[in-house]
Amino acid sequence: MSDFTMTIGGAAPDATDSFGVINPANGEVFAHAPECTPAQLDAAFDSAAEAQRSWKLDESARRAALLAVADVLFAQAGDLAPILTAEQGKPLADATMEIYASAIWCQYFANLEIASQVIQDDEAARVEVVRRPIGVVAAITPWNFPLTLAFWKIAPALLAGNTLVLKPSPFTPLTTLKTAELLRDTLPPGVLNVVSGGDQLGAWMTGHPVPRKVSFTGSIATGKLVAASAAPDLKRVTLELGGNDPAIVLDDADPAVVSRAIFGAAFLNSGQVCSAVKRVYVPESLYDAVVEGLTSEASSVRMGDGTDPDTKLGPINNAPQFERVKGLVADALSKGAVATAGGKAMERPGYFFEPTILTGVSDGTAIVDEEQFGPALPVISYRDIDDVVERANGTHYGLSGSVWGADEDRAGEVAGRLECGTAWINTHLALSPQQPFGGFKWSGIGIENGSWGLSEFTEVQAIHRSKTGDGLNLSTAGIVS
Ligand code: NAD
Repeated sequence: MSDFTMTIGGAAPDATDSFGVINPANGEVFAHAPECTPAQLDAAFDSAAEAQRSWKLDESARRAALLAVADVLFAQAGDLAPILTAEQGKPLADATMEIYASAIWCQYFANLEIASQVIQDDEAARVEVVRRPIGVVAAITPWNFPLTLAFWKIAPALLAGNTLVLKPSPFTPLTTLKTAELLRDTLPPGVLNVVSGGDQLGAWMTGHPVPRKVSFTGSIATGKLVAASAAPDLKRVTLELGGNDPAIVLDDADPAVVSRAIFGAAFLNSGQVCSAVKRVYVPESLYDAVVEGLTSEASSVRMGDGTDPDTKLGPINNAPQFERVKGLVADALSKGAVATAGGKAMERPGYFFEPTILTGVSDGTAIVDEEQFGPALPVISYRDIDDVVERANGTHYGLSGSVWGADEDRAGEVAGRLECGTAWINTHLALSPQQPFGGFKWSGIGIENGSWGLSEFTEVQAIHRSKTGDGLNLSTAGIVS
């Protein structure tokens, strides 16, 4: 696999340098992606700006185009999924689901109303509030769900009448590059440009004069750089950043049921999910039973190469993240934690780390306080519900969290006290295109998905039509009486 091209103005630009993409299941370079030059980035933004002039004019054409994009994704899932597995590591079935989810997001936004509202209509004036596109969007994505997270941006941005320049992570550029190639006949030239390169390319994008909006998904550290870079010319920003989601088990929960569900929500994508469960708080009375359930799940789940149909969990995506997870687990073990499952890297090529359950840890240990973003889960015991809510909230993170218990009202009351963008009750990671998703505190600015996510790709415009025709009249404007 080495024939991946960028898409700028609906075509492949001349090849320049390239960089290697590693298969995390064996640690070897298996393909190359083009390295975008500054001149090519200029060309991408210029073509997006040019395309936006006509793209913004025809809403029904945009809806039809989004449905056509969904058709292409469904039809090509069989070709795209192996590329995603090779560059990301996830099992082929999960990769296929990621392509389907991207298509479903396009279908959802293709049918979503762009809200407008008449707020005054009387003898003095008619005032309507409408949504206008922002212009060109710079979109930057991470490596855990490269395609789905790209379409969380592409679908609403395009519906609203914007055009995009999109940069996937240098660890996982290929599925996104290939998707843009496949869409060259579906979208007008310049509407969706995809460029590839390293972190520097992202910095060029956020500082570039053409885009009026940056939509970014990635780490908190990079999100802060993006916000600073977008500030001088007041670009709009949406930042979807890291999380350190707590799952709080209540004392009336069924340990067998919750440990199975929490395991699934912590280890999906080998824990590389922004809103995965990243720390579990369990009352002392249920601690041993929940640990036993989690340990049994972690010990029996099949981790391996994503191309093996029996594989449920793939490797960690890249070497730096692999080292980080190893370091966090080693640090916890050195401070007295016990691994009831896993605890170390697997002895095989690639970036495999055993599914790990850690006990004997508490707040104040890095793996509890920070986002591990990998297959290692700390389980912490508690006595007092008010105290545990405080510990769950006592962090800069605020992406999501969950509360588990038989009494749904009680669980709901506790969930309502969590300071986070999504509070789940007896589930975790339940996401849908219509459900708003975003973070409190350092987990982000703004919202993706649903009508809220669509609004982030629009400017609000008030259209005020005077019915008196006598110019500014403070009396009819309601300012003085
Ligand atoms: P990252 O911040 O390292 O990189 C994300 C993207 O930003 C990449 O494309 C990268 O090349 C680019 N980038 C790097 N430096 C940049 C700069 N200075 N300016 C502009 N762009 C730059 O994140 P990652 O390691 O790829 O992803 C993992 C992180 O993403 C985790 O923290 C995870 O929680 C978070 N994440 C959040 C969500 C969400 O929706 N909240 C979803 C998925 C992942």
